[in-house]
Amino acid sequence: MPKRKQFYDCGICGAYHPANWDGDCRDDANRFAPDQLDAKYGEDGWEEVPMPTWTSPSPQRFVPGGVTVHEYRLVAVKDIKPGDMIDLEGDQFADPKSERVEFDCELATVAEVMPETPSCIALGIEGVDVFGFPPEHLLRVHGHDAGYDDE
Ligand SMILES: [Zn+2]
Repeated sequence: MPKRKQFYDCGICGAYHPANWDGDCRDDANRFAPDQLDAKYGEDGWEEVPMPTWTSPSPQRFVPGGVTVHEYRLVAVKDIKPGDMIDLEGDQFADPKSERVEFDCELATVAEVMPETPSCIALGIEGVDVFGFPPEHLLRVHGHDAGYDDE
């Protein structure tokens, strides 16, 4: 019998993601409802696994620095505020190749939020640079300082 595909019930968006997937919750190619999984793999063709302790991104990318990853939450760029501590390592806009040492196991502090156009918000990162993001892009915000209400 072939190995079952594994998916976890995402605590962030409520959909199911592949077990080792670590992308953006809005990536429709990787978010499924149980019905869709049944249709795709058959009821016995997939199984639910616990949500990984990391919410995002992959553990391989973060464990080396010993950084605790479960305190992050995903916040859209348009809701980011100055002073937020965000993790930009490997971010598809700020660090697409994971090559910026500034973000390697370090949190970036947002110094300035500058809406540029309806489709671009620039975030000034303390001591690093200014990066432009789509307003709906999700960033990993460190839980302690965020102060957002749970909806
Ligand atoms: Zn999700």
